Amino acid sequence: MTPDLDVLRSAADRALAYATGIDDRAATPTPDAIARLAAFDEPFPDGSTDPGDTIELLDRVGGPATMGSTGPNYFGFVNGATYPVALGAAFIADAWDQNAALPVMSPVAAKLYDVSARWLIEALRLPEGTDVAYVTGATVANASCLAVARDAQLAACGWDSPTRGLFGAPPIQVVVGGQVHSTIRKSLGLVGLGSERITVVPTDDQGRLRADLLPDIDPAAGPIIVCAQAGEVNTGAFDPFDAIADWAAERDAWMHVDGAFGLWALADPSRAHLVTGLDRADSWATDGHKWLNVTYDCGIAFVRRPGALRHTFASVAGYLPPENGFEAMHHTPQSSQRARQVEVWAVLRTLGRAGLAAMVQQASDAAATIARQLDDELGNDGLVVLNDVVLNQVLVRFVDTPTTERLLAEIQRDGRVWCGPTTWQGERAMRISVSSWKTTIDGARQAADVIVGCARNVCGD
Ligand SMILES: *Cc1c(COP(=O)(O)O)cnc(C)c1O
Repeated sequence: MTPDLDVLRSAADRALAYATGIDDRAATPTPDAIARLAAFDEPFPDGSTDPGDTIELLDRVGGPATMGSTGPNYFGFVNGATYPVALGAAFIADAWDQNAALPVMSPVAAKLYDVSARWLIEALRLPEGTDVAYVTGATVANASCLAVARDAQLAACGWDSPTRGLFGAPPIQVVVGGQVHSTIRKSLGLVGLGSERITVVPTDDQGRLRADLLPDIDPAAGPIIVCAQAGEVNTGAFDPFDAIADWAAERDAWMHVDGAFGLWALADPSRAHLVTGLDRADSWATDGHKWLNVTYDCGIAFVRRPGALRHTFASVAGYLPPENGFEAMHHTPQSSQRARQVEVWAVLRTLGRAGLAAMVQQASDAAATIARQLDDELGNDGLVVLNDVVLNQVLVRFVDTPTTERLLAEIQRDGRVWCGPTTWQGERAMRISVSSWKTTIDGARQAADVIVGCARNVCGD
């Protein structure tokens, strides 16, 4: 056995032990485990270190200080877990270490791009011919789509922004909802449109953009981009896409949808009422690493107009061969890139159409179960479920801001489940996001029991 093999075997054994042991572990690392991270505070070594020793240290000290986000009881942010087939495909894809920038660099990455892109369009019932690009996450997917929107809208006015920039360009008018995700603002800043130079449309009590309050802006004053949302990050609510699409069509506006987790609702026929008109947008952003439960970092940008991604992201260099097929580096901000399609393909192939719909249903049913149980058992003690649980998000407040914060602190001290804080309509609230394929309905009941127990501790103080 070569020493290399020893290192890889040791790493694989440890990874498997971690992956199979996570369900029996608390969702939160112990304070002790976090304190032991100090073991990493070594001086930069002068000479070499045994790789086996490095793997051992990483596993022994690092593993216990992870959040249990691949287990069934982590409800923080909207972080997904990992399907076994995704992790397995990731092992193999990491061993391959393919650069997915160009087909000539990886025939297998090119093939799995083609297949996964076709399947994604089918699974999400997006318009045929829509371009698909893998990026690092929904933030970059949003930014990529907005860069494309910017260039396409300016091209329609005869302005070539990829070469001329925005200086002296017709001013683009950007319209967003009041509950727009922070990463849309960040993306607007990044692509030169300004995070504050926007028209903000008020939202309703679920955070949905009020289509009746869309401004009567004049496209003659400059091309328009409107950002809608599939899955508000607190409530899981969906914007009224049909009304927004009508408004956009009247103004030749580009309609972009941030669907970091909510876009997957398109895969579940029982949620068709939420997504009416969603397929009328010009671009969509989503994540693989959230609800599809592949490993980080995987975001996906979809652009309806063929060639528009390329118009924005093509790069030119003498050594680049002319190619047939999809050239990722000419469709994304990155050049060199991981073959993220490998895991997406593996999960889509494993789940199939029915499994994907079941993934959305199970998490949403689990969220509804938690909401119902919390309301039943704590409603009289001042717990309020603040949202209509239409998807996988539950938003609650316990009595008031200080009590909600004490409940959060108690849940995190207890450690068995993990929930995080948010601000809703100016006040503190707690968010329970079910994004792991491992959270069953039974598991949801047990998680709700833990939260109820923590609330009783807080009340009993
Ligand atoms: C998580 C999220 C994002 C950002 O996604 P990243 O993968 O963290 O870049 C954007 N929009 C919404 C609605 C989200 O939930």
